[in-house]
Amino acid sequence: MDSKIIFYLSIFFLLSFNASALEFSNKFIQGSFILGKTKPGAKVKIDNKDVLVTEDGYFAFGLGRDRKNDVVIRILKDKKLDVIVKKVYKRKYKIQKIDGLPEKKVTPPKEVYDRIKKENKLITDARSIESNLTFFKNKFINPLKESIVTGVYGSQRILNGKPKWPHYGIDFAAKKGTKIRAMLDGTATMVENDLFYTGGTLIFDHGHGISTLYMHMERIFVKKGQKVKQGEVIGTVGSTGRSTGPHLDIRLNWFNVRLDPATVLNLN
Ligand SMILES: [Zn+2]
Repeated sequence: MDSKIIFYLSIFFLLSFNASALEFSNKFIQGSFILGKTKPGAKVKIDNKDVLVTEDGYFAFGLGRDRKNDVVIRILKDKKLDVIVKKVYKRKYKIQKIDGLPEKKVTPPKEVYDRIKKENKLITDARSIESNLTFFKNKFINPLKESIVTGVYGSQRILNGKPKWPHYGIDFAAKKGTKIRAMLDGTATMVENDLFYTGGTLIFDHGHGISTLYMHMERIFVKKGQKVKQGEVIGTVGSTGRSTGPHLDIRLNWFNVRLDPATVLNLN
């Protein structure tokens, strides 16, 4: 066959089998951040939620720790609707026991309930921001130059013998004062020096509901509303809030869905 015919035939098959030209960066596994790409100008819904699409066709979403249902992706382009259903693969999570925490930090006293409620709202609000920043498309870098992972996403925590919330972040062991670098370009949407659980806490918006959070920081070098570049030093490692020793704990979210930061980082 003449190469021109093969060329047109392959275009025909590409178009007929994949009208929305859909691609995903990651597998559909519990906790995954997923970057999707479709045709520019397409409208996208994830589980009936409208999501923003960049001019070049990128969109982002994520799967929660215990997500069981299939993901339904609807792509509307030129009055043609494609519905894609993806199965979500389950994970097994570790059980992590930590003893020797100050009792008042494991079971907070009544007088701090209001404080915790207010602080949770600050975090939830920052994570609810839907901006059209497009940094989420880019590759993340590790927040520390040397990273020794001591805690993983999803593990069920048993603090002083009491079962608690699962751990939704990645813990890195590091000395107090170690420089923390921004994993991605973004805008600081929450800067708090002394939250009850998380101590010195920073949240960055990277666009389309994708945010990162850094906690237990000793010092914070950015202000709310400040734009940062990937690799910029944003503060130092500390042991503020509920923490047994100096370490960095980072989080990744799609709005208020907690994702596994390991799905965007290169960890060994
Ligand atoms: Zn942690």
